[in-house]
Amino acid sequence: MIARVTVDAAVDRLFDYLVPEHLRLRLVPGTRVRVPFGPRTVTGYVVEVVDRADPTDRTEQTDLLGVPIAPARTLKPLLSIVGEHPFLTESLLKLLQWLADYYCASLEGAIRSALPAPVRATGARQKEQLFVEVCDPADRTDRTDQMDRTDRKALTPRQTELLAQIRQVKGGWAATLCREFKCTPELLRKLATAGVIKLEARQMRRDPMANRVILPTQPLALMPEQATALEQVKALCDSPDPKPLLLLGVTNSGKTEVYLQGIAHVLAQGRSAIVLVPEIALTPQTVQRFAGRFGPQVAVLHSALSDGERYDEWHRIRTGAARVVVGPRSAVFAPVTRLGLIVVDEEHEPSYKQEESPRYNARDVAVMRGRLEHCAVILGSATPAMESWQNALRGKYCLARMLRRVDDRPRPSVRIVDMRIEMAKAGHVQVFSSVLLDAIRDRLSQGEQVIIFLNRRGYATSLQCPHCGYVATCEACAVAFTYHQADTCLRCHTCGAFQQVPPVCPGCSDPAFKYAGFGTQRVETILQKCFPQAHVARMDADVTARRHSHDEILGAFRTGRTDILIGTQMIAKGLHFPSVTLVGVLAADMSLHMPDFRAGERTFQLLAQVSGRAGRGDIPGEVIIQTYTPDHPAVAAARTADFEAFAATELVDRRSGGYPPFTRMVCLTLSGASEEKVAFVAGKLATRLQELAVRKPLRTEVAGGPAAPRAGEFVVTDAMPSPRAKAKGVFRYQILLRAVAMPAMLVPLRQAVSEAKLPADVALAADVDAVNIM
Ligand code: ADP
Ligand code: ZN
Repeated sequence: MIARVTVDAAVDRLFDYLVPEHLRLRLVPGTRVRVPFGPRTVTGYVVEVVDRADPTDRTEQTDLLGVPIAPARTLKPLLSIVGEHPFLTESLLKLLQWLADYYCASLEGAIRSALPAPVRATGARQKEQLFVEVCDPADRTDRTDQMDRTDRKALTPRQTELLAQIRQVKGGWAATLCREFKCTPELLRKLATAGVIKLEARQMRRDPMANRVILPTQPLALMPEQATALEQVKALCDSPDPKPLLLLGVTNSGKTEVYLQGIAHVLAQGRSAIVLVPEIALTPQTVQRFAGRFGPQVAVLHSALSDGERYDEWHRIRTGAARVVVGPRSAVFAPVTRLGLIVVDEEHEPSYKQEESPRYNARDVAVMRGRLEHCAVILGSATPAMESWQNALRGKYCLARMLRRVDDRPRPSVRIVDMRIEMAKAGHVQVFSSVLLDAIRDRLSQGEQVIIFLNRRGYATSLQCPHCGYVATCEACAVAFTYHQADTCLRCHTCGAFQQVPPVCPGCSDPAFKYAGFGTQRVETILQKCFPQAHVARMDADVTARRHSHDEILGAFRTGRTDILIGTQMIAKGLHFPSVTLVGVLAADMSLHMPDFRAGERTFQLLAQVSGRAGRGDIPGEVIIQTYTPDHPAVAAARTADFEAFAATELVDRRSGGYPPFTRMVCLTLSGASEEKVAFVAGKLATRLQELAVRKPLRTEVAGGPAAPRAGEFVVTDAMPSPRAKAKGVFRYQILLRAVAMPAMLVPLRQAVSEAKLPADVALAADVDAVNIM
């Protein structure tokens, strides 16, 4: 018997090992093993167990006459099995093989992302601690009364007192008792020697939810839309081969309650569930909603947990002690067995996409896992991704709608302020409109809270005329040009066209044609100056780098110690602050003119989510959106928060432009310290891919718009600097590939990539179904 093993040495192939007789019964795919690897011993995972070795295996040797030595004699035996159970179930292994293949990644890398680091670490073990048990006097009937009396006599008054205290609490962890009763471990040991208590090493679960009071909750009586959605969920859970369900539910429509009751349904069948939430939404409140309903059956996987906690939670899942897993994208690999339901909340979130190899999208992996394990998958969102929405329209996914808020509160009123007019009034570019400033003043005077949202990202921006709103756009692609400061040039990141910055605005001939950039920090300064009495706080990536600052800032805001919270998209999601009555959105255009075909979608999602933060309490909420392009569909649709209306116009554009979801896109990024080298390698790779492609894209000078691939074809752009062309001294070039279906592209892509002889100092990353093409 031969085991085909993937080793933890970043070599993307399998190696064959003989399976020693005594290990045969225990060896199944997914088992972790120790194997000889060159001069070393390394850890690996069994992928396959076969009868014969792979004849193409390079480890096979020939004898002096060139005759292959029977593999059975040359193969080295594997050394040992690590752990009592396989670390990966067979179906997880299948999922990871699919993932590695689809996302052009290595199997080792896929396994690495599926197993938390503390679980992979060979040294990690269940933590053992000393536990104190009180010896029951009745247990000592074998002893004579005489001896018992001797024992007692041997105790000092302090020891007798301690024994009484320990008896009162019926024992416990030694460390805890020492702290509570102010005694030393030596004192406990003396009691143990006296035979009145027992000390033993026990496994202690490191509980990430320890020290939190979690109130149990009961299933709520459902609203009609919730009930209908739950019926659909239950039917899918009971189906032998269910389709995924897209749950389109506005904020506060009670999606979570539907998830909870769906999970209860599969738990009652003895099955388990996984709930994926965006990393940023994995707050104690989120976890409490699940823990409140399902108690200790809930396990949390979170990168902020300590190694010990993660190790313990993972093992609680694998052994079946925990059957509801809540976590961010990597929780999609949780080693649960008998999976009944996977929930992907806020399924449109870009954070489900891992931005390093393997560049998987946890939402899509969840759908694939559901297919492999025949379990139901719910994708929930108020603003689904166009990919998911299109799948629902095509009937590939089922669809449930929840369009009413549970509390039946009115949606906040949304006002759109045209900043072109504001700017004409003031004579120069404005950060705040007078409408917004007045509204803030008004709310503060009522003792209410305000959120100011500005999604300012620090890199390449678009060029926009503050006078007429004109945005420099590539006509062929209808995508905003990116302004590259290095060579003061406008570049289209879809087709590669470029041009110099025009001296005056092509729309209105205003020479002030420039982008007036400002970020959250400047906004903070301005607000502090305008409202010196108010407590202003800022939350963005700069301030939340510290481990607990996130909770601190939100805590201060929740308890009313902060009046105005300024933030980036970090504050847009899932937060519930009943006393926020005003949300101001600055520069709604900012995300609109990203050089990304998803710019409109992202803007709509952001505006819808940010608006959802207002008016969650008893006072009706108000949203003020400042923009230079009030007529853009994404901005206009935000007024009514009508997702389906927005999606209808957006999908028309995507179809005619040949963008996802009507095509699949791969983004190749080459990077290195030498721009010349990166550009050269990227250029060669693009040329090679274009040879392999059936059709090149149309160039900008050719009339007729952007190239949309037809069925069976794929199109390849020229190599061009990435929107973030240079970061930390590394130059980046990208090549975008599009095809109607992935298979048309994957084979030539792999061919070109494997042929390409990359110099050691140029790296290549392939991002399949790229979410971030910046
Ligand atoms: P969503 O996830 O769609 O934003 P939630 O599930 O968070 O909505 O529900 C919003 C609020 O409404 C929560 O406080 C929740 O407890 C409450 N809620 C949900 N369903 C019901 C119901 N059927 N009856 C009463 N309250 C409900
Ligand atoms: Zn273009």
